[in-house]
Amino acid sequence: MASDKPHMNLAIIGHVDHGKSTLVGRLLYETGNVPEHVIEEYKKEAEEKGKGTFQFAWVMDSLAEERERGVTIDIAHKKFDTDKYYFTIVDCPGHRDFVKNMITGASQADAAVLVVDGSEGIMAQTKEHVFLAKTLGINELIVAVNKMDNVDWNEDDYNKIEAEVDKLLKMVGFKPGEVQYVPISALEGGNIAEESENTPWYDGPTLLEELDDLSRPESPVDLPLRVPIQDVYSISGIGTVPVGRVETGEIRPSDKVTFNPSQKSGEVKSVEMHHEEVPKAGPGDNIGFNVRGIGKDEIRRGDVCGHSDNPPTIVDEFKAQIVVLQHPSAITAGYTPVFHAHTSQVACTITNIDKKMDPKSGEVKEENPDFIKAGDSAVVTVKPQRPMVLEKVKEIPQLGRFAIRDMGQTIAAGMCIDLTPRE
Ligand code: GDP
Repeated sequence: MASDKPHMNLAIIGHVDHGKSTLVGRLLYETGNVPEHVIEEYKKEAEEKGKGTFQFAWVMDSLAEERERGVTIDIAHKKFDTDKYYFTIVDCPGHRDFVKNMITGASQADAAVLVVDGSEGIMAQTKEHVFLAKTLGINELIVAVNKMDNVDWNEDDYNKIEAEVDKLLKMVGFKPGEVQYVPISALEGGNIAEESENTPWYDGPTLLEELDDLSRPESPVDLPLRVPIQDVYSISGIGTVPVGRVETGEIRPSDKVTFNPSQKSGEVKSVEMHHEEVPKAGPGDNIGFNVRGIGKDEIRRGDVCGHSDNPPTIVDEFKAQIVVLQHPSAITAGYTPVFHAHTSQVACTITNIDKKMDPKSGEVKEENPDFIKAGDSAVVTVKPQRPMVLEKVKEIPQLGRFAIRDMGQTIAAGMCIDLTPRE
């Protein structure tokens, strides 16, 4: 597959059973990315079971199975391309580490397809995923109103769902130009690769055309330099070499840099990418760089490197907007889970729950509530138990997000909306 096209990570979100897996199977099939033997096998099985239609969700199941058996397949099978872009489907929010991977940048999605069952409309996870998408920095959304075959491709049903979803998205903060809608049937096909003959009332683009029409997020090259550190090496003959991915800004040899929260400064001697020295590195580049004036043990994973005249912010306290995804009981003031932001993991205490928002209207439902629980969206005050670097999401979005984890689960996702720096 041509890999010279710009790459996009795509998340498929939506309520359980609304057709996410089926749609992924259908997209891979329509773009020629399902191995022939998988199609044959499942067509046969469908016939034997007397089912008329070929179940695309099976394609995904079979790929997952093959992966478990260690057969040839890895995530290569979840790639497809359109005229303009080369897409990788990143895991859905239901999957175990989705939120953590999104936050730590392991699989940051550039855009998302929200799948909504045309006969059911907005359900609990539809709302949760939409909040999550916005919190995680996804600013472009395609709403696929699916299972239109179940409602006889009825225009009124489609319009009703579009209006309903539109209200939800506006409330969450999506702007009109950031959202596209399309009526589809992932199972039977229709408005995915080809226009459906069942929708003479719809003259918009097909789903693949809408995917091709997405705009790429701007590269944050003009923001201040931030390189979250993954590891620090000491290489004989060279010296201290921190490694990490540049999130924002640019780094060059002879730059004066500061690592926070360790508060160590030095001078960049050289920058390496793919084992070669480069004159500069920018957003998305995985680099190793040699710094003069800092010992290997003076800095560590979780530190963030920035220019010394605009160093990473060490927070004393911050305000966060969070979405609670799951919690066995309720979250109250005093709760101290682990916050995962960029490469750091720091225990933080939620010292106050400032307000709870209504997920339907976005309005403040309660000031200073006693507790919040799964499904709630809230503003909270947070006190890190150790020094940590965080930025306001409005200023440096890449360094303003975090996942809250406890008991091996992602409890919530959030963003820093205000902060008090450490003196
Ligand atoms: P997920 O939980 O969102 O991944 O949903 P699945 O892809 O597993 O689909 C759930 C069920 O809906 C399966 O039985 C699918 O066959 C069915 N389904 C998915 N898309 C369509 C569609 O376009 N039309 C109809 N009639 N059924 C669909």
